[in-house]
Amino acid sequence: MSDIINLLPDSVANQIAAGEVVDRPASAVKELLENAIDAGATNVQLVIKDAGRTLLQVIDNGCGMSDSDARLCFERHATSKIHAADDLFAIRTMGFRGEALASIAAVAQVELRTRQHDNDLGTCVIIEGSDVKSQEPCTCNAGTSIAVKNLFYNIPARRNFLKKDGVELSHIDEVFRRVAVVNNHVSFTVYSNGKLLYDLREGNKAQRIADIFGMGSSEHFYPVSERTDIVSVEGYVGKPEYVRKTRGEQYIFANDRFIRHPALSAAVEKAYSDLIPERTYPSYFLFIQVDPSRIDVNIHPTKTEVRFVDEHALFAILRAATKKAIGQFGLATEIEFNPSTEIDFSDAPSGYIPPEPRVSYNPNYNPFEQKTSSSSSSGASTHSGGDASWDSTYAELRRPTTLESRIVEDESPSDEMAEMNSPSMPLSYMNTYIISTLKSGILVVNRQRAHERILFERLMAHKQQTDKVTASQQLLFPVNCTFSPSDGEMLGEMIGDLRDMGFAIDAVTQSTFVVTAAPPDVNDSDLQGVLDQLLVDYKGSMMQKFADKDRAICQSLARQMAVKNGKPLQPEEIQALLAELFACQVPNISPSGQKTMYVINKDELAEKLR
Ligand code: ADP
Ligand code: MG
Repeated sequence: MSDIINLLPDSVANQIAAGEVVDRPASAVKELLENAIDAGATNVQLVIKDAGRTLLQVIDNGCGMSDSDARLCFERHATSKIHAADDLFAIRTMGFRGEALASIAAVAQVELRTRQHDNDLGTCVIIEGSDVKSQEPCTCNAGTSIAVKNLFYNIPARRNFLKKDGVELSHIDEVFRRVAVVNNHVSFTVYSNGKLLYDLREGNKAQRIADIFGMGSSEHFYPVSERTDIVSVEGYVGKPEYVRKTRGEQYIFANDRFIRHPALSAAVEKAYSDLIPERTYPSYFLFIQVDPSRIDVNIHPTKTEVRFVDEHALFAILRAATKKAIGQFGLATEIEFNPSTEIDFSDAPSGYIPPEPRVSYNPNYNPFEQKTSSSSSSGASTHSGGDASWDSTYAELRRPTTLESRIVEDESPSDEMAEMNSPSMPLSYMNTYIISTLKSGILVVNRQRAHERILFERLMAHKQQTDKVTASQQLLFPVNCTFSPSDGEMLGEMIGDLRDMGFAIDAVTQSTFVVTAAPPDVNDSDLQGVLDQLLVDYKGSMMQKFADKDRAICQSLARQMAVKNGKPLQPEEIQALLAELFACQVPNISPSGQKTMYVINKDELAEKLR
């Protein structure tokens, strides 16, 4: 029999390897940025078109490459960063495998221009699908520019797999921030479709954090500084009163590399236990330095997982350092978090009055307080929580509902309704379920999901109305909310939708918004939190197939506005809620697809009690 084994051509091998290294535009961006940093650049420019689909380019002023290196860098296992196996235990650079450029060049059309500082002429290499098309001398700036065009042009399956531009761009943004936060000595600019997203000057870490994460970072952090024999930890941890509803701003770096390490994150969060409400998350930026021989970064070429030799000790040190920072600096003066770039407020909306400083925590929060009768806190003129908003919901719920809509059930719906409307009051169980009787059996409704359904349909109806008469409640003070540039951009795209739903919201800058009115059911004591959550939910929804913008926004708001299970309601409120539920178009399913109700059939009941 003839031989059947052959060696794969390089182009095929590279394409296979590329599957691991470059799975989306963001991972190519990560590799190019890291190469620029490794090359000692002090200025890096990132240019993106169509979320990286058509172009992603990184231009740096680093050391540049010689003519032959410019050709060699696209070979697999071509690296200047390690020479022998021993070097693996002393890695200080971001890359070292020599795989990235070979992988990128296998799945895109790449143009490299590079010049070393003491040469007059540079070199330009064009390579497509691992195939070198040309290499010529060229004039160019000292440093390196790599343009990656039409990523995955030769792998349609993968190209089709890319998500919407907004999603891909947010992945690129995240990758960029991880590199930019830690390399505060480097200035960065980022352009997306010709629009300037970031313009970061070099500065200290605190400045860099403020520049990237918006004005909101000022006064929000305590510094951390701890040096032991095995590790040094520097950075900033968020004050307990500035927790967010998202895990967004949680960054740990080891030897200047972003890492994901659940145990270390848990160590930091543990330091906050008892200090912050459930399901809220502290922000932190921690920079760990350990001896490179005590860290194993070799687990996966692109992944952010690492292993430490002294994991247990690290855990304890990190927790103690955080605790110390939260406690020790509790009364100290604020650290300087001045954004280095001036923010231009000149185009603030007319009549805009600078708001009172925003305090985003609830001063009445007491983790030990039992949730008691709603009367205790519904003094309401202070807008202090959900109670006031419930009052208005209730007022609306009480309006006579048209009951011609039907429960999606088998029996004649109007008969069901007739009985529903009988004077017998529905029962509340555990402040979670509503129990009532139907002709066909016993109806059990999940209260919170039912309310979500009601609010969702109401919001969707407002959205679709042509003559907008949306309920809206003026705030006592305008509230400033700040976001990262990419989140800000996303929110900017939603502004029209939010206005349709009763928000009065204007962009002050790309990442700062001022809110002057909100829909009555929205918790206006924490608008930053509401919008944060909206962005988180929105991004989540838009990742799904068949995502619909309106639905995503309404669903998030409805979920946030719904009265939570466990909160006592008055019998009339419960009755009104049921009536409103049955006036919905789809009363039996919550907006997120869960059942709102269950009917214990009378036959089933008879069977059980036989
Ligand atoms: P690695 O970073 O793991 O070494 P890469 O494929 O990313 O592998 O890069 C291969 C080599 O090309 C690097 O080791 C470096 O010598 C060179 N190189 C890549 N990008 C740059 C750059 N922006 N400036 C200078 N040299 C670069
Ligand atoms: Mg590299």
